Amino acid sequence: MTLDRSWFSESVDASGSAFSLKAAKIHEEQTPYQRIEIWKTETFGYLMTIDGCTMVSTRDNFLYHEMMTHPALNSHPHPRKVVVVGGGDCGTLREVLKHPEVESATQVEIDERVTRLSEQYFPELCDKNDDPRATLFFGDGIQWMKDAPDGSIDLIIIDSTDPVGPAEGLFGLRFYVDCVRALAPNGLLVQQSESPLLNLELITEMHEAMRKAGFAATHLLHFPQTIYPSGWWSASIAQKQGDSLTPRLDADAIARLDTRYYNAEIHQAAFALPTYVRTALDAIKGV
Ligand code: SAM
Repeated sequence: MTLDRSWFSESVDASGSAFSLKAAKIHEEQTPYQRIEIWKTETFGYLMTIDGCTMVSTRDNFLYHEMMTHPALNSHPHPRKVVVVGGGDCGTLREVLKHPEVESATQVEIDERVTRLSEQYFPELCDKNDDPRATLFFGDGIQWMKDAPDGSIDLIIIDSTDPVGPAEGLFGLRFYVDCVRALAPNGLLVQQSESPLLNLELITEMHEAMRKAGFAATHLLHFPQTIYPSGWWSASIAQKQGDSLTPRLDADAIARLDTRYYNAEIHQAAFALPTYVRTALDAIKGV
């Protein structure tokens, strides 16, 4: 293992692009599920990669974690029971637990090593893990959702790796059918849905599958994410009933969440879609 200052680089063949950080690798291990590496970067703090893909950095994870949680939590009238699928770095769980309405938050992560390494290198993301409302469960989210009782969850947050390997099934029709069944009548699902620039086809396929699975409507929101391919990321929200989302929290309640990126204006702005994205999503409406 070298501590020489060198570069971490993630290249994406499909887009002919790469993202690099000046960094030294300080840990690597192969788990039964994936290869995890920890890097100490010169300007982004620590960086975790899984199978060579960026997951979390100290410097910019707040963008992703806040936008994967607060817009959906703010769009649900009573988010009491929340389940995070994946999310082993615990940053999503931490943001969920900022909401006093949440009575229970269960994180279902397939790879316990992701969480143990996060406790070591990203302790600030794990500082709410001993909240009495939090449960850390280690197992497959697909099986967990199959076993979940009908109507038992208000909000499902799918904070997974890319749709390959153990996460592939988390982007499929059968999983979404289980999610619809496990959600309470006004339940919501939010899922990380990759880059609106590089992965528009995946996004439209996800929305199509969500509707086919029984969700009444789907929505897309987007935000910057420096370390992910293209630097621009998205989350998709599917609602079990109804066709529009109404924010529940006023600006004061949002301010109490103590966020760095998310606020009332960002909530509105994040759902405003570029023309080419809106056209692609309009084309699959009614499917
Ligand atoms: N923010 C990241 C991104 O968008 O690239 C995701 C971070 S989080 C570390 C992703 C987690 O999903 C990983 O820890 C991985 O182990 C977990 N995961 C993948 N497939 C899973 C499955 N089927 N069930 C539960 N967790 C899963």
